[in-house]
Amino acid sequence: MTTPVACVVGWPVKHSRSPTIHRFWLKELALAGDYVLKPVEPDAIQAFLADFADSGFVGCNVTVPHKEAAFRAVAGMDEAARAIGALNTIWLEDGRLLGANTDAPGFLASLDQEAPGWDAAPGPAVVLGAGGAAKAIVYALRSRGFAPVTIVNRTEKRAEQIARNLGGPIEAARLTALPGLLGGARLLVNTTTLGMEGQPPLDLDLAPLADDAVVSDLVYVPLETGLLKAARARGLRAVGGLGMLLHQAVPGFEHWFGRRPTVTPALRAAVIETLGAAASADAGTDAA
Ligand code: NAP
Repeated sequence: MTTPVACVVGWPVKHSRSPTIHRFWLKELALAGDYVLKPVEPDAIQAFLADFADSGFVGCNVTVPHKEAAFRAVAGMDEAARAIGALNTIWLEDGRLLGANTDAPGFLASLDQEAPGWDAAPGPAVVLGAGGAAKAIVYALRSRGFAPVTIVNRTEKRAEQIARNLGGPIEAARLTALPGLLGGARLLVNTTTLGMEGQPPLDLDLAPLADDAVVSDLVYVPLETGLLKAARARGLRAVGGLGMLLHQAVPGFEHWFGRRPTVTPALRAAVIETLGAAASADAGTDAA
């Protein structure tokens, strides 16, 4: 039997943390296998995915700018990928290329682990940002019963588009509506790049939030963002983006290598070690 090898395909792809995560689990579980970087230029991605069964890989993570190409290339996908309109994980099953979006379950698993009970009484939620990550977060929050989920974005049209595409109790609101929205919110999630190293800070007054509201920031460089600091200073539970980065990798590993890994403090420490070095070089906005 050949040793299973998975990869992350993107352009560029050299700053990806995925090899650190998957190699950590392979070693921890004493499994034969590897996970490598696979840079593929945009004009070569279609052929790469069409011939995936002959590539020698058992599957891969897909990162920018190839997510749309992967969405078109798979023979089937999970419900999250279909609803969100993007996928980040593919694998071969009986010769067919299948795909999933693992950002939504990864986000939910990180909150389950780091803020247990966060969804016990779901109510209104506010999502800042309307980029690629926001779609997965809005979908995830709807799946746990949060309503309404209100998207607030600098470019309002993008927020309206997500609300329209996903359907259900999802609204788009102006930035000026934020103080009022925060007053009723059970949860606030930042999915913008604000607060990320090299980006402007996210300037937000958290005073209107209820004392038992939860704050989440998808940014993980730095690990402790200004938003998280402000939330903790207010006594609120706050969850950073590293957990989502780690948990989104779990389903892919299970598909490719046959065992379901867990997100442990040791994995967290191993990835944190790589973040310092990569932080200044990587202004990328993608998890994989
Ligand atoms: P994206 O598609 O480029 O979207 C960026 C978002 O940030 C947009 O809503 C954009 O608003 C907003 N934004 C950027 N600069 C802004 C500014 N100066 N003022 C106000 N809003 C601004 O990026 P993405 O892929 O969604 O990623 C967003 C963040 O999530 C990144 O920090 C990324 O690292 C993080 N992320 C984390 C994980 C994880 O696993 N933890 C996974 C995915 C993403 P406009 O629409 O107005 O441009």
